Amino acid sequence: MFTLNVRGMLTRKVLIPVLALSLVAASVGVLAKRSMVGAAEAIPLPTFDIPAVSEAHKASALPNVIVVATGGTLAGAARNGDKTNFQSYSAGTYKMEDMVAQLPIHKTADVSTYQFGNKGSGGYTMKELYDLSLAVDAALELYDGAVVTTGTDTMEEIAYFLDLTVRSEKPVVVTGAMRPWDVIGTDGPANLYQAIKVAGSNKTKWFGTVLMLNDVIYAAREVTKSNSHRMDTFDAPMFGALGYVDDPAVRIYRAPARAAKAGKTEWASPFDLKKISKDSLPIVEIAYNYQEAGGGAIRGFVEDGAKGIVTAGTGAGGISSKMSAARTAAIRDKGVVFVSTTRTGSGTIYDGGSGNTIGGDNLNAQHARVLLLLSLAFTNDVPTIRNWFTTFGTQDVEISVDANTFLSTSIEEPAVEAPVAEEPVVTEPTPEVSEEPAATETAAPIESEIPALEPVASP
Ligand code: ASP
Repeated sequence: MFTLNVRGMLTRKVLIPVLALSLVAASVGVLAKRSMVGAAEAIPLPTFDIPAVSEAHKASALPNVIVVATGGTLAGAARNGDKTNFQSYSAGTYKMEDMVAQLPIHKTADVSTYQFGNKGSGGYTMKELYDLSLAVDAALELYDGAVVTTGTDTMEEIAYFLDLTVRSEKPVVVTGAMRPWDVIGTDGPANLYQAIKVAGSNKTKWFGTVLMLNDVIYAAREVTKSNSHRMDTFDAPMFGALGYVDDPAVRIYRAPARAAKAGKTEWASPFDLKKISKDSLPIVEIAYNYQEAGGGAIRGFVEDGAKGIVTAGTGAGGISSKMSAARTAAIRDKGVVFVSTTRTGSGTIYDGGSGNTIGGDNLNAQHARVLLLLSLAFTNDVPTIRNWFTTFGTQDVEISVDANTFLSTSIEEPAVEAPVAEEPVVTEPTPEVSEEPAATETAAPIESEIPALEPVASP
């Protein structure tokens, strides 16, 4: 029997002891954080006017999907009646109720709507995203799946925020459009229709939040906007799509790491927003590295009260010596927590295992910022945050075979001596390592501790 063992050996040998220690530290950290927030005070939670499922929809055999609308280009109207201009329009104009009513009769779901807001994606504050997440959970208490419409500019951040915070395992599908609702060749109606189809299919239940535009389904954690204008702007550079929406099928070709925990308590993220006040969402910023980048951005962020800073470094996360000096001072003087990511657009920054600088795994800077912001809202304990970065939703697939199982091919291949591998040539020093002070130095990647796989004998 083969078992798909996500993070298998690495988890047992390295991460479980680290996790055990972190959990103890976490309780202390979370408690410390709570007492700062004021544990005895009741947290004021928003309420939402989510429409009840109508009697007609209850009676129908179709799944009940709710569209939670926030605006964006999807709800945009042509400016001055010019239906040929895709770039000059009034975003967040049309109401979702009216847009859904204009769609052809839906064959795959009974659809209701909830207008959360109506503006561009970049106009939402993190506190409003806190409310949005709670609204989605409230809607999913009544409905079988939710579509969340947003502008595409910060859609990947909104989607990942929902992925990290929504408690329900039901499908959450984020969509939007690159062209306003009423221009020629608009992608709005088709995207809305297809997203409803994905949510109604129930096929992304347990996936966390997914994003669907242009018929392509992506995991929120992996997806990024890659072009300012094109309709196929979304991409998941390291991973590709989860699946596609065609007629009649929604096809899912692979599952994100979270789905491997379906039905288990670990499936839920550590970020239950009902346990914190939205006022405890801290300031977390992103500093972008480039040739001879200065340290002013980091110093300015710290002066503004940032508790966490994500660096978008060059190559494998490198930052300039001036930026590095500013980071060292921010850690030493203010205990700021840093996460190292790459500006290259894809690639993993491995975690060094200690200090206040955490490797961002394969999150891009804007995703890492969302995770760091939520982490710092729940704890000040750096090992706990490090553990969340290293394990929550991260992909590390390993196939383990038990003692009674062997791998073989039907045709026995003659043994071929493997060519001797040449020593890899290191072409570039890693500034992350060379410029870090001893306290935050990046240790050797933990992957090096994984023992080589033993060949399994044939019978
Ligand atoms: N500026 C718009 C927004 O992000 C773009 C879009 O909706 O696609 O809201």
